Amino acid sequence: MRENHQYKDFQATRLYCNNCGSSMPVKERLLLILPDGYLYEYICTGCGKAVGDKRVSLSREDKILF
Ligand SMILES: [Zn+2]
Repeated sequence: MRENHQYKDFQATRLYCNNCGSSMPVKERLLLILPDGYLYEYICTGCGKAVGDKRVSLSREDKILF
């Protein structure tokens, strides 16, 4: 058990990049705003390619704002 994994909101800052062939630091970029959340894209800082994405649902509090 690693303590790091207890943090739910811990951001993935390294992802495996096929292009670079190793785990690379990534930047998070907002790609799309969806009716029920946001779609983020992870960009490899080594080659600039998208290596993954993440969908974040709006919390209940955010939905009230709509
Ligand atoms: Zn890369």
